[in-house]
Amino acid sequence: MKVFHTEAEWRPIWASIFKENKKIGFIPTMGALHQGHLDLVAKSIASMDITLVSIFVNPTQFNSSDDFKNYPQTLESDLAQLEAAGAAYVFVPSVTTLYPQPTRLRFDFGDLEQVLEGKFRPGHFNGVGLVVAKLFNLIQPNRAFFGQKDLQQVAVIKRLVQDLSFTLSIEVVPTRREKDGLAMSSRNMRLKPEERQQALLLYQQLSQAKKRLLTGDLWTTVLADTEAAFSNAANTKLEYFALLHPETFEIFDSFTQDAPRSICIAAYVGQVRLIDNLPIIL
Ligand code: AMP
Repeated sequence: MKVFHTEAEWRPIWASIFKENKKIGFIPTMGALHQGHLDLVAKSIASMDITLVSIFVNPTQFNSSDDFKNYPQTLESDLAQLEAAGAAYVFVPSVTTLYPQPTRLRFDFGDLEQVLEGKFRPGHFNGVGLVVAKLFNLIQPNRAFFGQKDLQQVAVIKRLVQDLSFTLSIEVVPTRREKDGLAMSSRNMRLKPEERQQALLLYQQLSQAKKRLLTGDLWTTVLADTEAAFSNAANTKLEYFALLHPETFEIFDSFTQDAPRSICIAAYVGQVRLIDNLPIIL
């Protein structure tokens, strides 16, 4: 496995990969890797000739400086995990490599900016769009792998690829969970032991809501019960619990079984903001 830090190092490697007509699978990450990330790596290894992972804690997608400062960084263990998983290349750029000057270009993802992560984290998707577009241009992969865990991010990236005519495909990989249902996330490392227990409420509410909707309960009742469950739970704060179309992110206030639907949730457990989602109708 080769670790590199600059575009200059990658360019000749890319040229020889291209000459041999080998296909590059790319997994952008912010490090602090867990099995969810490694699922993406495994998908790429299974279907592509060369697998490249990037590790970069992207400052432009954080709208809270505390969140950025406290984001876990575990490079040594990340590299050991990627080596064991069989990744061929790891790109670990510095901030000045990706942002040689402050970027004045701004992305506006329209309706996707108005709801959920777009609404609660102003500027977040601009930062995601910037870094992913830069990485796609630098690496020139044939396919990029993203987790369903960040469902709205997937919608944003697909729009970015279409609108900027990137010639690559996007593959979405299901959410990897802990045994008790908690979605794996780098931010879980920041949970204190009692918070790790409290964090189960997100998945519990998602799966309960799914069961109830599919057996005929009204969305308004389900939503009110989830809001009450969070109000009654210590140390948690619900930001949103929304029923929506998983691609357009149109939000609904009643449930029908005849179109794709997912529920997305964001909540604070102590100081840590967690997100999760569950498909209800595929
Ligand atoms: P991050 O390092 O959090 O930016 O995540 C990098 C990629 O891994 C993104 O495409 C995420 O959606 C994906 N990912 C994060 N957590 C999970 C998970 N639990 N299961 C599957 N994919 C995940």
